[in-house]
Amino acid sequence: MTKIAAGAEVDAYCTKCKLVLAHTVMAIEGAKPRRVKCNTCGGEHNYRPSKPAPKAAAAKKGKAKPASAKRTRQTWEEAMQEASAKPRKAYSMSGSYGEGDWIEHRTFGIGCVQAFVPPNKIVVRFADTTKTLVCNRS
Ligand SMILES: [Zn+2]
Repeated sequence: MTKIAAGAEVDAYCTKCKLVLAHTVMAIEGAKPRRVKCNTCGGEHNYRPSKPAPKAAAAKKGKAKPASAKRTRQTWEEAMQEASAKPRKAYSMSGSYGEGDWIEHRTFGIGCVQAFVPPNKIVVRFADTTKTLVCNRS
C-alpha cells in the first residue's frame, strides 16, 4: 500500500467540477486523505474517491429568473412581428386611422400609425421611412 502524505496527488471526486480529477492532499486521516484540494478549480473539500450516488433531493435548483428584458425601444423587426398577429387596415386616403393602427400601404408596405394630425393626416412609420399620409378624405 502506498502511503499518502499531505501534498501528494491523488485522484478524487471534485464536488465543484463534478469529475474525478487530480487533487492535492491537504489533510490525512489514518492512511487516507481527508481534505483535498482540486488541482483544476482550486476548491478544497473532503476527499471522495469517486462520484457519489446521485441524490435527487440534494439537487438545489435555483429558480431560473426569466430574462427580464427591459426594453425601452422596440426594434422594427419586433414591432413587425407583433404586428403580424394584429389586424391591418389597407391604406386609402378615405380611410380613418388612429395612433397605433397598423396599415398596409401599396407602395411603402406595412406601417404603424405614430400620430394622427387633425383633421386629415397621419404620420406612419414604415420599415425604412416615416411618411405623412392623408386620411379621412371624403
Ligand atoms: Zn474542481
